[in-house]
Amino acid sequence: MLIHNATVITFDSSNRVMADGGVCVQGGEILDVDESASLLSRYPEAERWDAQGKLLMPGMICSHTHFYGAFARGMYIPGEPAKDFPEILQKLWWPLDRSLDMGGVQSSAEVCLVDAIRNGTTTLIDHHASQNAIDGSLDAIAAAVDASGLRSVLCYEVTDRDGPEAARAGIRENVRFAGAVRGSQLAERVASTFGLHASMTLSDETLEACRAESDRFHVHVAEHQADAWDSLSRSGKRTVERLHGFGITGVESIFAHCVHIDSWEMGLLRETGTFVSHQPRSNMNNAVGAANVPAMLRGEMPVVLGNDGFSNDMFAEMKVTDQLHKVNSGDPRTLGADKVLEMAVYNNRRLVGAFFEKPVGMLAPGACADMILLDYYPTTPLNGDNLPWHILFGISGGHVHSTICHGRVLMRDRELLTLDEAEISARSRERAQETWERFWQS
Ligand SMILES: [Zn+2]
Repeated sequence: MLIHNATVITFDSSNRVMADGGVCVQGGEILDVDESASLLSRYPEAERWDAQGKLLMPGMICSHTHFYGAFARGMYIPGEPAKDFPEILQKLWWPLDRSLDMGGVQSSAEVCLVDAIRNGTTTLIDHHASQNAIDGSLDAIAAAVDASGLRSVLCYEVTDRDGPEAARAGIRENVRFAGAVRGSQLAERVASTFGLHASMTLSDETLEACRAESDRFHVHVAEHQADAWDSLSRSGKRTVERLHGFGITGVESIFAHCVHIDSWEMGLLRETGTFVSHQPRSNMNNAVGAANVPAMLRGEMPVVLGNDGFSNDMFAEMKVTDQLHKVNSGDPRTLGADKVLEMAVYNNRRLVGAFFEKPVGMLAPGACADMILLDYYPTTPLNGDNLPWHILFGISGGHVHSTICHGRVLMRDRELLTLDEAEISARSRERAQETWERFWQS
């Protein structure tokens, strides 16, 4: 397949913009990136796709999400509104995950995958919980991911909050799934990591048992002060120090949020090369505060960008990232589009590189053919220097016209080719209703 006549954004080593360029794809991989005329003469036999001047760029990446959160949309929560984040967990998220059955697990994932294809997010790192449907839950999600054609990294969130048997089942599910994926056909697009809920719901014994099974983890860290207070009372250490003591930090580990960490904890994260995942829309919605992202980026820490179950429009998450830190600091010089791109594009790509054999998130020969076409026709000049500002202030998920992952076209001219959206929505309405009824009865 040869896509030509596009404005190509490569995101390889710099913010390169190529007018009238294209990409030649073979199988799941990018074979060549060049000017249209050169590609057309070099590959005369290739099937051609005239992009008619659209933007062609790598698919977006989300470093932290919860597919099952799709069922929270519009859900009525009885009783007094939650007054803080610990109450949000107790009144919403924990009873919701306990109310899911296997059909709900798969159906909520499908809803998010449709949304991801529509918004041009081709790689998603999910963090799953369904405490009454643990065994096989990652297979149900992987089946949905496989059918969609997208790329994903999956894990199950181990926690002690529902007793020792559920904690053991969570560990088993991570270990079983990692073994099932490794070396399988799925491994081209589906990878695993080891999920942990958060320090505040994990005993020393459980953390030790998890560390014995894996050397990379995906965990919520200090999303609210409660996680720091709990860690101090359990161990006399703050959250990052406690997790570090159990070997949970590391160059392939993802620590989501890190809102309430002190400078010593930040130093530990920097020293260990741990990825810090930032989700500003979620942090604002839960009123938990703003992580010190500007300082972490100044220290060249690998801060990545996720959505925590909000819409899979990563362009929206990028806009909010910039705005949150500007309002939080009271200084319009804080962050800026180039720093936001550093997280959402370059750091996210580095993170995903830990899970797949070939590079993801750039248009370059040998990289995975994960790409999106956007019908964004700039009304001001567009070049490598001002590209980040076009992305922040011009582009949105609504501009995504076509989505390709691993060389397969998943959406063309806004028509989904792998998933039946009407059928998925109808099934989801039914399963969500059943899930809500279990939620209200609990
Ligand atoms: Zn989360």
